[in-house]
Amino acid sequence: MTNLINYAFPYNHMGFFDLFKSSSPAKTSTSCECDICSKKMTLSDGYLLTTKDVVVQKAYWEYAFTHQWGYVHDLGGTNADPEMKTRFLANLLINQINQNTPWSICETCSNFFTFDKKTAKKYAQKNISPPNTGYITRAEGIQAAVAFMDAWKKVYNEELPDLRKEL
Ligand SMILES: [Zn+2]
Repeated sequence: MTNLINYAFPYNHMGFFDLFKSSSPAKTSTSCECDICSKKMTLSDGYLLTTKDVVVQKAYWEYAFTHQWGYVHDLGGTNADPEMKTRFLANLLINQINQNTPWSICETCSNFFTFDKKTAKKYAQKNISPPNTGYITRAEGIQAAVAFMDAWKKVYNEELPDLRKEL
């Protein structure tokens, strides 16, 4: 076992946050949803990526903040408790970086990312998990936190508290 597989974050079972990623653990059917935009797709038309491939990329978080999590910024309105909000955002981050199944990505969303398309396509067509699917390393978690904070700043022009401390 490598540390890639053994590593896990302290908040491993945030069931409440599961709604943020469509949970279709077994990619056995060729029909699925894009894990970024939720569009219905045929797996072989898309790509299979690891959690690390996705979460260290600022573009992923930018998309999330301007789409499915657009509401998060104004959560609690002007009375929002900053500490609660930080914890919420940290949990959001942790939930995403803790995904231990491959991410199916549609053609449109694939353009947000930098990755080896040929290889990711091969895994999608064969319907097998790419190597290193599963829990990411601590270092990658830190990278993901930085990408998250950078994207937040770009979208909202606002500095977040250092989420790396929450990991
Ligand atoms: Zn998509």
